Amino acid sequence: KEEHVRKPEWLKIKLNTNESYTGLKKMMREKKLNTVCEEARCPNIHECWAVRKTATFMILGDVCTRACRFCAVKTGLPNELDWGEPERVGESVEEMGLKHVVITAVARDDLKDGGSEVFAETIRAVRRKNPFCTIEVLPSDMMGYEENLKTLMEARPNIMNHNIETVRRLTPRVRAKATYDRSLAFLKYAKELHPDIPTKSSIMVGLGETKEEIIEAMDDLRANDVNILTIGQYLQPTKKHLSVDRYYHPDEFRELQQIAMEKGFDHCQSGPLVRSSYHADEQVDEAQVM
Ligand code: SF4
Ligand code: SF4
Repeated sequence: KEEHVRKPEWLKIKLNTNESYTGLKKMMREKKLNTVCEEARCPNIHECWAVRKTATFMILGDVCTRACRFCAVKTGLPNELDWGEPERVGESVEEMGLKHVVITAVARDDLKDGGSEVFAETIRAVRRKNPFCTIEVLPSDMMGYEENLKTLMEARPNIMNHNIETVRRLTPRVRAKATYDRSLAFLKYAKELHPDIPTKSSIMVGLGETKEEIIEAMDDLRANDVNILTIGQYLQPTKKHLSVDRYYHPDEFRELQQIAMEKGFDHCQSGPLVRSSYHADEQVDEAQVM
């Protein structure tokens, strides 16, 4: 029997929309671009787009070849590759006046290069038009093929982010195709290729993990030289997705952040509404814009 877990007060927030938001949404449709901010109905959208000047674009189409059980992205036959997309992302970043952009993508297991060429071209296009905007990338594991990661890293993002999403034990239940160890190896290889580019990862809590398991995940990330960690509450996107085991209290998030800092992460965002891309701009103080 599925237990009904009540949403606590701190997660009940109103979506704040205004005219500039409506205009930007229109621009996204005109340019045929997708953002995670909209797709995931992220509660931080007003703060991010209007105040912090940051957004998360999802490139390589809006259909994923995987079907992770926590994720609201559509799954099925992927879209045709769109080589005009990198330029349009660059233009949109300029129109939005972004200071920090996160570029993520659906997993393209149908492509030999995992989409890494378009990904790298998007980094270059954004940088050409926005030399002062910092660029964070959040790719899938691209099936663990080292040459794909290499293609991506050669475009020199300011932050390489790849999420392990959950603790080791729950990974097979939560993620599709990806494995815990392959994600760790991916982060390790990124750091070996370009030791000066900070690496980052994220976990969702509330899926049934224990505190010890979260700490083990922190240790595993640190053992692979990961610099930045984000921890947020898992929220069930629809009834078909994994149900929430429990909601963590803000105090528990604070405690996890403290533990992470003691483990040696340079930066840790931890809170109920924290998403992989939340306050990402604060994490690039030392990143160089090439
Ligand atoms: Fe977009 Fe991330 Fe901000 Fe949410 S937290 S609005 S997904 S940039
Ligand atoms: Fe969602 Fe990424 Fe999993 Fe695809 S690979 S279903 S986009 S989390």
